[in-house]
Amino acid sequence: MEESKIRSYKRRLKALLMGVIVLIAWGIVIECNDYIIMAVKERSMSISNSSQTYTYVEEYVAPVQYVYDEDMYQDEMLVYQEGESGSKSITVMSVYENGTFQEEKILDSEIVTPAVPEIIYLGTKERPEYIIPVEDYFISSEFGPRWGSTHHGVDLAVPTGTSVVAARDGVVIQTGWNGDLGISVYVEHSDGVVTRYAHLNESIVELGQEVSQGEVIAYSGNTGYSTGPHLHFEIRIDGEAVNPLDYVEEY
Ligand SMILES: [Zn+2]
Repeated sequence: MEESKIRSYKRRLKALLMGVIVLIAWGIVIECNDYIIMAVKERSMSISNSSQTYTYVEEYVAPVQYVYDEDMYQDEMLVYQEGESGSKSITVMSVYENGTFQEEKILDSEIVTPAVPEIIYLGTKERPEYIIPVEDYFISSEFGPRWGSTHHGVDLAVPTGTSVVAARDGVVIQTGWNGDLGISVYVEHSDGVVTRYAHLNESIVELGQEVSQGEVIAYSGNTGYSTGPHLHFEIRIDGEAVNPLDYVEEY
């Protein structure tokens, strides 16, 4: 009798323990489920709250337009039109996931003020080695034998005060009064060739000055042994005068 009672207690105790274990396990499952549900809920909330749309106005610049001009030298450029920036209205969506930035999508872009492109002209013409130092001239005396001697240059008739430019880049090696040549300028070039400009009214360069092709170095005149306003122009290779017209492209 005693023994059967004990057995019955044991059985009840076992059942009770099993019950408690089942309850605890169920509780854990429910708890876990809640967590899972909550996590899923939170996740879906964060996904639905993850994008932000906004619009802003931004300045923009139009690409530079280059125009190639065969009448300009290769090293010449001209800004034909100054550029002006315009403005754009941009609508953007930022995407976040769990509070972390993921990406930005441009939804719409609209021009508010159109930009004005800068237009630049670039020369394509090859620069001649020498240029004629004056404009609007006529040749009044050619290079070569003249009056029983030799004319060492070419005479370019121009009114007194005409701008005289360097025929080529170089360094001034003579400037000022020079006997029969009157006021003259000599320019030495990188290969030792010298150009001479004579019967000037005025020289505006100094000894040792670096000059560029096309740069005004003097004003023409009628000084020295001269029979009328003109520019006497020489090219000397190794000290020897050559016909300048053989070394210029157009005249
Ligand atoms: Zn001459």
